[in-house]
Amino acid sequence: MQSIEEIFNNLDGELEGHGPVVMKNMVEKEGKNVVGTYCVFTPYEVIRAAGAVPVTLCSTSNDTIDEAEKDLPRNLCPLIKSSYGFAITDKCPYFHFADIIVGETTCDGKKKMYEYLNEVTPVHVMKLPQSSHREVDLDFWKNEVLLLKDTLEEKFETEITEQRLKEEIKIKNEERNTLKEFYELAKLKPSPIYGSEIFKVLNISSYTFDKEIANKRTKAITEKILKNYKKGEKRISADAPRILVTGCPMGAATLKVIEAIENNGGSVVCLENCTGLKPNEETVSEDKSPVDAIAEKYLNTPCSCISPNDNRVELINRLVEEYQVDGVVDMVLQACHTYNVETKRIKDELKKSNTSYLNIETDYSQSDKGQLETRLTAFLEMM
Ligand code: SF4
Ligand code: SF4
Repeated sequence: MQSIEEIFNNLDGELEGHGPVVMKNMVEKEGKNVVGTYCVFTPYEVIRAAGAVPVTLCSTSNDTIDEAEKDLPRNLCPLIKSSYGFAITDKCPYFHFADIIVGETTCDGKKKMYEYLNEVTPVHVMKLPQSSHREVDLDFWKNEVLLLKDTLEEKFETEITEQRLKEEIKIKNEERNTLKEFYELAKLKPSPIYGSEIFKVLNISSYTFDKEIANKRTKAITEKILKNYKKGEKRISADAPRILVTGCPMGAATLKVIEAIENNGGSVVCLENCTGLKPNEETVSEDKSPVDAIAEKYLNTPCSCISPNDNRVELINRLVEEYQVDGVVDMVLQACHTYNVETKRIKDELKKSNTSYLNIETDYSQSDKGQLETRLTAFLEMM
C-alpha cells in the first residue's frame, strides 16, 4: 500500500482528463466551446448546460505583472494585474482557448479591468448586487443569471433547458460533496493532510474537465488516506497548532504563506478562501427551480465585496469549531481594500472565541518570504 506521502507525490505527473492538453483536444477534436472564468460567483452549471467547458483562468503568477503594469496602475491587487497580464501576453493556455469570458462586478479594480479585457476577448459581465440579504438582491441576481443564460444561448446557438440545468446541478453537487469528504479529513487530529495538499487536490479537480474522472480520483485519494491513517500512519504532530487560512484567493505565488506555516511546525487544516472550501461548502438545491436555486447558492458566497459580509463571519466561526482551529491567518493581497477593511471584523469576531489571529499583507513576489517566516513562526510559538 502506498504511503500518504506517495499518494500525493503521484499527483505530480500527467493525470487522466486533466490539464491544457486535454482542453486542446476537446476544442480541436470535439469542437467544444470554452468559457473562461475568474470568480466563484460565476454560475458554473449554466455554462455547462450550454454544452461549453468552464475553466478558471490563470491569475496567480508574478510573471505577467510587468506587462500588465504597462496598462494598469502599479498599486492594484496582483490578482487583477496577473489575470490581465496573462490575457495580453497569451501565456494562459486556457485563456487562449476561451471563446468568451464571464466576469462579475465584484471589486472596483476587477470590474474596470474587464473593460480592457473585452478588447482582447469578449467579456460578459454579470452585475453583482452589493449586498445579499435582501429579497431585491436575490431578484436582481436571478435576472443576471438569466441574462448570462441568454448570452450563452445566443453565442453558442443552443438552448439551455431546465432539464440540462438540473443535470449539471447534480454533477457539480457531486463534485462539491466529493471534495468536501476529502478536505474534511483534516478535521482528524492530527490531520493526515497538509494544507498544500488540500490546495493541490482541489486544484486538480478544478482542471479535470470530466467530472466523473475527477470524482473517482478524489474518492480514491480520500479512501486510501483514511485507510493508512487508521492503520497508524501519522505524518503531522498532534501538538502542531491547527491553522485556518482565510482571506484573498491563493495560488502558485502565495503558497509561500502555507509553506511558511507548515515549515515552522503549524498544520494548515482549513483553507477557507475561494481557492479552498468556500465554493464547496454549500450545494445548489435540487428541489427548487434550477435558476432560483443557482441564484441563491452563488449569491450566498461569503466574499468581502458583499456588504455586510455576515456569511463569512458565520462560516469562519463554524469552521473554527469544526476543525478545532487554534489560530487564523488572514492573507490579504496588497491593494485589496475589501478584504483589508474586513480584517478588523474578523479579528474582533475571533476574540470572542479566544482564537489567535494574524493578518498578513503580501503580493506575488517572493521577496517577503523571510519576513513571512519570521512573523508566522512567532505567531505559532505564541499558541
Ligand atoms: S474573493 Fe470574491 S471576488 Fe475574489 S474570487 Fe472569491 S468571490 Fe470572487
Ligand atoms: S483579491 Fe481583492 S482586490 Fe483582488 S480581485 Fe479579489 S477582491 Fe479584488
